[in-house]
Amino acid sequence: MERFIADEAKLQAVEDNYKAVKSRIEEAAIKAGRNPKDVRLMAVTKTVESVYINKAIELGADLIGENRVQEYLGKKDELKLDGVEKHLIGHLQTNKVKQIVGEVDMIESVDSVKLAKEINRVSANKGLTTNVLIEVNIGREDSKSGIYMEQLEELLIEIAGMDNIKIKGLMTIPPICDTEKEINEYFSTMYQSFIDIKSKNIDNIDMNILSMGMSGDFESAVSNGSNIVRVGSAIFGARKYF
Ligand SMILES: *Cc1c(COP(=O)(O)O)cnc(C)c1O
Repeated sequence: MERFIADEAKLQAVEDNYKAVKSRIEEAAIKAGRNPKDVRLMAVTKTVESVYINKAIELGADLIGENRVQEYLGKKDELKLDGVEKHLIGHLQTNKVKQIVGEVDMIESVDSVKLAKEINRVSANKGLTTNVLIEVNIGREDSKSGIYMEQLEELLIEIAGMDNIKIKGLMTIPPICDTEKEINEYFSTMYQSFIDIKSKNIDNIDMNILSMGMSGDFESAVSNGSNIVRVGSAIFGARKYF
């Protein structure tokens, strides 16, 4: 196999981009009257070669997100993951649950009782508790995973009864929008629902994490209460799919 040689210019770009994204998050937080420390930056690493991910980690990235189980398991041994939190953010099929439980710190893409049951079953077998977020399909798009908002409470209550799963909050991917105003409305609706559900204090769940905002819209997400922004291309450049 050909050895992969890191491109110096690209390493430099990752450094510049990472620092720029960090300071944009900070500015957006301050502008919104929030403490910048309350917003975590997740480096989204799908399709990114390990050397660039390690560069981001070296720069301080302490949270990474991967979409696909196979891809993550294939590259995790090349990553310097000491002190780094790993989240699965892509759609998860029940038949892959066995492979990922215990490998990541959180699964952000839980959107059905069936999937939750399987995570619970595998976690129990492995003697673990798996932290999860519930993915909400805020724009009600057929093309996206996630549950509709009106199904959320019922799903939360059902999963809250499972011993080896711990719900920590919500995740969403809004529709692609033409205007800032439109995206802002989705994020603000999402935040309102997050606060509403939090105030219900459902037994056995924490409602502290709201994961929303990506490269094109993270500032708007920060101004609407997000506390994890998931940023890929703004750090690592446009993705190449193999
Ligand atoms: C790819 C991906 C991201 C990051 O997307 P960018 O636009 O590259 O920042 C965030 N969240 C999820 C769920 C993704 O699949």
